[in-house]
Order: sequence, then C-alpha cells, then structure tokens
Amino acid sequence: MGKVKVAVLGATGLVGQKFIQLLENHPWFDVVAVTASERKVGKKYGEAVSWYHEGGIPEYVRDLVLTRSSPEEIPSDVEYVFSALPRSVAEEVEPLFAKKGFKVISNAGAFRMDDDVPLIIPEINWEHMELINVQREKRGWSGAIVKNSNCTTAILVLSLKPLIDSFGVRRVIVTTMQALSGAGYRGVPSMAIIDNIIPYIEGEEWKVENEGLKILGKLVKDHVEYANIKISATTTRVPTLYGHLESVHVELESAPTSVDEVIDVFESFRGLPQELDLPLAPEKPVIVVESDDRPQPRLDRDVGKGMAVVVGRISLTKNIGGNWVKYVVLGHNLVRGAAGNTILIAETMYKLGVK
Ligand code: NAP
Repeated sequence: MGKVKVAVLGATGLVGQKFIQLLENHPWFDVVAVTASERKVGKKYGEAVSWYHEGGIPEYVRDLVLTRSSPEEIPSDVEYVFSALPRSVAEEVEPLFAKKGFKVISNAGAFRMDDDVPLIIPEINWEHMELINVQREKRGWSGAIVKNSNCTTAILVLSLKPLIDSFGVRRVIVTTMQALSGAGYRGVPSMAIIDNIIPYIEGEEWKVENEGLKILGKLVKDHVEYANIKISATTTRVPTLYGHLESVHVELESAPTSVDEVIDVFESFRGLPQELDLPLAPEKPVIVVESDDRPQPRLDRDVGKGMAVVVGRISLTKNIGGNWVKYVVLGHNLVRGAAGNTILIAETMYKLGVK
C-alpha cells in the first residue's frame, strides 16, 4: 500500500522546516505539497528556503515546488494538511481547507479556544477529538481543523497530567525561560536578547494560563468543561536557541509520601500513542533526571527525539504550608511544542481510522 499524502503549509519557516525534517523517511506519510509566502511561490523548495536546522535540507523535498497556501493548489488526495502558518494567515486559509474536505492539523493560535475545535495532546485528551463531529455539523465542513496548543503550554501540561491523575492539582505557579526559536526566525533582534533576559512575551501568559485548562478539561457532550485548576504564569525570553525551561510550583490535593513517589508517577505515565506504538511516540512522555543541575536546554532538549519532556529538581515544599511540589520541566518547543505533536496527532488519527 502507498503512503498517505500530506502537505505542509508554511514549510519554509522554523516550524515548517521541523516538519520537513521529522517527516523524512516517515513510515506512513509522504510530503507531496509545500507552501510559503507569495515571494517564494513557484520556486523549488531547495532553492527558496533559508535552511536553519542542523543536517541540511532533506533530499526528498529539494525539488518540490512551493505553492500558495490555498486548497485549490494542493492535490485533492492529500489526507493531512500540517499548518505552520502565521496566525493571521491561518485564520483566513485554514477554514478554506477544512471546507474543501482537508483535515488541517495546525500550530497557529487561531481557533484554538473555539468550543468546537479540539486542542489535542494525544497522551492527554484524545477523547476531545470527538469535537470534530460537532465542528463539522456546526460549520458544514467535510474536513476539520484540529489544533496544537502553544509550545510552553504543551510542555507544562504533559508534566501536570501525571500529577493530576495521582494526587489532584489545585494551583500552579510557573515561570518560563523560553528559547528564541519560539518567536520564529526573525522574532527577537539579537541586540535585544544577547546579554539579556526579557521578562515579557506578548500574549503568552494568557495562553499558558488558559489553553492548558482546555486540554486538561473533560468532554461533556458537545463541549469541553475546563479543568478546575488555577494557573499563574510569568513568561520570559532567554538567549537559548531551542528548548523551553519552566520552573513549576504545584499545589496538590493530596500529599505524596516522598519525592520517590512523585518520580515514579512521572516516569510511569503513558498515553494512547505509547499504547498504539506510534512512530513518533516517545517510549516515556515524561522522563525524570535526578542530577541536581539538570534538565538543561542544550543537553536535554532532544531526549526522546524531542518528544519527551524532561523533569528535574523535584522537591516537596514543606515551608509554605499546603501540599506543594516544585520542579523544573524542559521540552523541545519545535518538536513536542509544535511539529512533533502535530504529526503525533495525525499518526493517532491514521492508526485509529479517524476520517
Ligand atoms: P516563521 O518562522 O515566521 O514561519 C512562517 C511560515 O509561514 C513561513 O513558511 C512563511 O513563508 C509562511 N508565510 C508567512 N507569511 C505568509 C503568507 N502571507 N502566506 C503564506 N505563507 C506565509 O514562524 P514559525 O516560528 O515557524 O511559526 C509558525 C506558526 O507556528 C505560527 O503560527 C506560530 O505561532 C506557531 N508556533 C510556533 C512555535 C515555535 O516554537 N516557533 C511553537 C508553536 C507554535 P516565507 O518563508 O516565504 O516567509
């Protein structure tokens, strides 16, 4: 049987290039269409792209001709359309693809919090995929839009889910140290960030405080009831290239007996992708490092091929009352926080035959 055809919208950007890398030699998916902005349309991918990642441009994509991000320009037998478009462009074109029958799985912020749009981390809330039926009925689409969360949120909630399942979670206080690539290649001027930390990322704190509540929420009939957890976030930009580090304090409903119990809860966490043994599923979605000075972005961001989050510095905070655990979590913002999670959604859809 031939491979499933997929397209990448915004294939020349930082996230788009990560798609191109992760889809090289994919056992099920074959990239047959790539798009970019108007100035690159009509050019071969290998000639038009400014390649940012290690390893060079994969051969398979060099001669593909870049098209417009329009459903008319994508072969109609494409099964999954991966979107790495800027938000404003996504807002306009993603519905056109869904209307035409394509299944769009997207990284862009647009539509994430719409009631009928699933916001999915396959290990956590696969059942929310039911919302595509609500979406199709409401919007009259034969295709669908499925979303990835913001990268920082994805990393945080993967670490929260095992704690919720075992102890219950009331409140979360998180301070992030986010890599430059999270802002796109031209996102932060070097003069602003070298020798510096910027304690503000526009719109980011709201996303971290709210998107996770949808992901961790419960599907009730045709909508998601948001999780009853309070999250307070401070988000900062730091001069690392890839990998968001987050310092997290969590108030639990019931107290763990020891740090070892918390380690065990993180390490034994598994989800649907592990059960289905999907190509991009990490063996363990959450990995604990016990060395005092880890995780570190440069050393740990590629653990589990960038699909696992790495937790360290775990301690039970006894001196402020309540049942608090604190830790540091790291994840690859372009892989688990973006392209990797999107592909994992498509792999799950494919394996389960979601039409
Ligand atoms: P980026 O590096 O700026 O790439 C944007 C891509 O969209 C490029 O391929 C660009 O093509 C294309 N594009 C720009 N304007 C267009 C237009 N008018 N029509 C069609 N294509 C257009 O951005 P990025 O960091 O990859 O982010 C892509 C999306 O993912 C954004 O919505 C972002 O918020 C989201 N996201 C990013 C991260 C991250 O860690 N970076 C994580 C999660 C989600 P050209 O090369 O021709 O300009």
